[in-house]
Amino acid sequence: MTKKYDYLIIGQGITGSSFAWTLYSNKKSFLILDSQEKNSASNAALGIYNPITGRRNSLTWNADKLSNTTEAFYSKVEKILEKKFMYKKNIFRPFKNNRDFNDWTIRAENNKFKKYIKKLDNKGILTSKSGYLDVSKYLTETRKYFKSQDRYIQEKLNSKNIKTKKSKIIISDYNAKHVIMCLGINQNQLDLFSHLPLRPVSGNSIIAESNFNSKHIINKKISVINTSKNIIHAGSTYHNGFENMGTNKIENQLKKLIKKKYKIKEYKFGVRPVTKDRRPFVGRHSNIKNLYIINGLGSKGVSQSPYCSIELFNYIEYKKHLDKEINIKRINT
Ligand SMILES: Cc1cc2nc3c(=O)[nH]c(=O)nc-3n(C[C@H](O)[C@H](O)[C@H](O)COP(=O)(O)OP(=O)(O)OC[C@H]3O[C@@H](n4cnc5c(N)ncnc54)[C@H](O)[C@@H]3O)c2cc1C
Repeated sequence: MTKKYDYLIIGQGITGSSFAWTLYSNKKSFLILDSQEKNSASNAALGIYNPITGRRNSLTWNADKLSNTTEAFYSKVEKILEKKFMYKKNIFRPFKNNRDFNDWTIRAENNKFKKYIKKLDNKGILTSKSGYLDVSKYLTETRKYFKSQDRYIQEKLNSKNIKTKKSKIIISDYNAKHVIMCLGINQNQLDLFSHLPLRPVSGNSIIAESNFNSKHIINKKISVINTSKNIIHAGSTYHNGFENMGTNKIENQLKKLIKKKYKIKEYKFGVRPVTKDRRPFVGRHSNIKNLYIINGLGSKGVSQSPYCSIELFNYIEYKKHLDKEINIKRINT
């Protein structure tokens, strides 16, 4: 007889992993299927979580809520796995000119920003409640752990493995009460949730060896993280589409920023799943009762995936209201 699961998760990027840990904490049975795609967004991510983002240095959507959920979530996983992959770090943004200084002086007067500002002088601004997740380690350790418990299988889901019967989805021979799609941009390859417009935004990052060392994440056009002594992770680029545009932009800026020699150890490339309104896609399929999605996390998978996972779990299990801003019901079918 086939084993019964409460949940089947398709995709083990940052999103599928966060949903799996949510199920684990709530003692639900589950199986993850993942095809380990080379160019998944998670494989290229710097892993930064940060309440102040973008060229305009705006507060991110739900900044306060996300910053509390994010650190609590990953530190719980660290305890279970007895591994470290989350690092709290401030972010230092060096100023280009007086205008930057003036802009930040005005911003610093605003109560919404005040609590995130650690230090401001004419050299730059230091902000807090940020850090980074070593995404590669988080995903590898998560996979290893769940594989050892027979909760992980490497398998690619194709349309021919999908059936629907009495408004319910059945994937191959797996017997699961609920199916959660966490496929990133590959969701567009399946004929499910095809009314949800997910846009590909490709990007690069690099891992390099350099004797540049900083205890803060440095941000000026690109971000630079010292992930260990003499090792940096730098990025990112943004390009509308699937194309790999290379790392020239990152390297040009890196030279100006660190003013030191570096030797590239690894080039990373991935494609982000982006939504028009920059809010995630979370919710239940309109016709298939046991099919759900978490996707469209754009450039903020690390901070948004724990929040979206908990929201969806509470919606499925306890019929709680799903945050309207992330609910796929906002998109007309
Ligand atoms: C260069 C770059 C830098 C970034 N930096 C940051 C950052 O600093 N901070 C941050 O928060 N975010 C960052 N991001 C964004 C972040 O990577 C994404 O938000 C996040 O990875 C999305 O995760 P996901 O799990 O939804 O999708 P993905 O990472 O694409 O994962 C999808 C998973 O599904 C699996 N899959 C796909 N198709 C199938 C199939 N048919 N069957 C089975 N499995 C399948 C894949 O193997 C993969 O594991 C960055 C992205 C890029 C490209």
